[in-house]
Amino acid sequence: MQPTLFIANWKMQKSVTQSVEFCSAHFESLKVLSADTAIDLVICPSFPALLILNEMLADTMVHIGAQHCSPHESGAYTGQVSAESLKEAGCTYSIVGHSEQRMYNGVTDQDVANAANHLCQNKIEPIICIGETKQEFENNTAFSVLEKQLDPVLSILKNTNQPITIAYEPVWAIGTGTVPENDYLTTVFKHISALLTKVHSGPWRIVYGGSVSEETIAAFKNIPALSGFLIGGASLDFKKFEKIVSLGK
Ligand code: PEP
Repeated sequence: MQPTLFIANWKMQKSVTQSVEFCSAHFESLKVLSADTAIDLVICPSFPALLILNEMLADTMVHIGAQHCSPHESGAYTGQVSAESLKEAGCTYSIVGHSEQRMYNGVTDQDVANAANHLCQNKIEPIICIGETKQEFENNTAFSVLEKQLDPVLSILKNTNQPITIAYEPVWAIGTGTVPENDYLTTVFKHISALLTKVHSGPWRIVYGGSVSEETIAAFKNIPALSGFLIGGASLDFKKFEKIVSLGK
């Protein structure tokens, strides 16, 4: 059976010092947890903490991931970080197209596709975030929104056989404590799976993100094609994160 993927997205919630303190305080537990063959564990700290966490956790099976990647390969793009640099910092995963990047930094569907492409070329698995807003959900336009977001990604990755992960994160579920109904998630996952099966030649996984917690994780059991979780707020506290992993694997 494929391991369940647990991705901790720390956003801008932990400084470098706090990230190092977390990994040092829970080093032994992280080592044991990540050695479980039933799970794949990814921690996504902020950019300046990538290299140091990668070095600190080298003796564990924890993967280090970035939270964003530039759509450009290299060049005069002040403030951006390339896939090549992420590779050198030890990343094996990178989130791209998180709704906060789309919302606050104007990241477009095509930017997400380009970034995913550079990541694949650097053998970093992209965690491609897609998801509808509350209004789109209420207007029953979620499927067309997801298709529009995925379209450039799937066309640019058509000829790659690199593994990719799609993170379905309905914007209305992020940080709100509200999670979608099981039936709704089952339908959405079926839809995304059909699109991926038709187009992507490499391996793919679909994870869910949005208010995953000790309280909500049980509801996600038995959803076909669900390969794991992207966890924001609840990943900041090790005890909560560990509980989610043990309940969700
Ligand atoms: C996220 O923003 O990726 C996320 C899943 O956040 P939260 O778990 O806090 O809803």
